[in-house]
Amino acid sequence: MVKAFASAGDTQNQRAVLTPLADGVYGYISDFDPNTGVIVGDDACLAIDCRATPSLAREMIADIQAVTEQPITSLFLTHYHAVRVLGRAAFHDVTEVIASANTASLIEERGEQDFASEVRRFPRLFQGVEEVPGLTQPTLTFETSMTYSVGGREVLLAHPGRGHTKGDSVVWLEQEKVLFAGDLMEDHCALYCGDAYIQEWRDTLNVLASYPAEVVVPGRGAVIRGAAKVQEAIALTRGFLDDLLRLTSEAIEGGFNLKATFDHVYASMTPTYGTWPIYEHCIPFNVSRAFDELQGIAEPTVWTAQRDQDMWSALQG
Ligand SMILES: [Zn+2]
Repeated sequence: MVKAFASAGDTQNQRAVLTPLADGVYGYISDFDPNTGVIVGDDACLAIDCRATPSLAREMIADIQAVTEQPITSLFLTHYHAVRVLGRAAFHDVTEVIASANTASLIEERGEQDFASEVRRFPRLFQGVEEVPGLTQPTLTFETSMTYSVGGREVLLAHPGRGHTKGDSVVWLEQEKVLFAGDLMEDHCALYCGDAYIQEWRDTLNVLASYPAEVVVPGRGAVIRGAAKVQEAIALTRGFLDDLLRLTSEAIEGGFNLKATFDHVYASMTPTYGTWPIYEHCIPFNVSRAFDELQGIAEPTVWTAQRDQDMWSALQG
């Protein structure tokens, strides 16, 4: 049986819920669509990612407006993926769009191809895509970290290292011990490694583990609460990466081609991870990238809509 491409078979709508994490700090959490969030200050708010389309963003904005009258003036992008950043046009009060310098360069370099590719991967999330006026451009960038002030509140915006992409960044609220981890950390949800630096990602997880976080918004799925649960999720994330690398490496050493490598990794990982959300979507992209990275291809090859389809029919067809 041919498997539906990426998330094309996922047609069930998920309603995100604004979930209090600390005073004036909310995650916008659904079952397992990409999570976003908001930090409410005295006279302004900072949104953390802005969903796939203006239509989905309006839903988020309306839910935020139900808890605060303060305008959302700033938008932080955890990374460049289209599914998280193309709702920007709905945020009419936003005057500043902040991202790491590496994220800004990825938007410049491969944002258009990523847009075309992700629309086909996530047709449900990109309903209303015709409203997207173009790529979301950062107006303020930082190299490794910056303290950002919004409505009298200070937050740390940090790029802890390369991982899920070259530019992943997190939001850290030291006093509240809340971390918005972007797609760097998951809890019983598959990781997407198609654009990743998989070996370095493990080092970046050490940086995340060094934050004394008690509440974490992972890339997808429920909020992680409690320091022990946070460390557990970091260990699960690392375990997924370790397994992907180890199994891919075994196959390469055995002289397997990409298809045989995929079959080997898939057969070995599925018993453990097969029930995790978006596993079937991610795993062919993950093996493709691990296969490249372990053979010395340092920079992830750009995924175009065509490359997506070619890879999918070669591995999942
Ligand atoms: Zn992502």
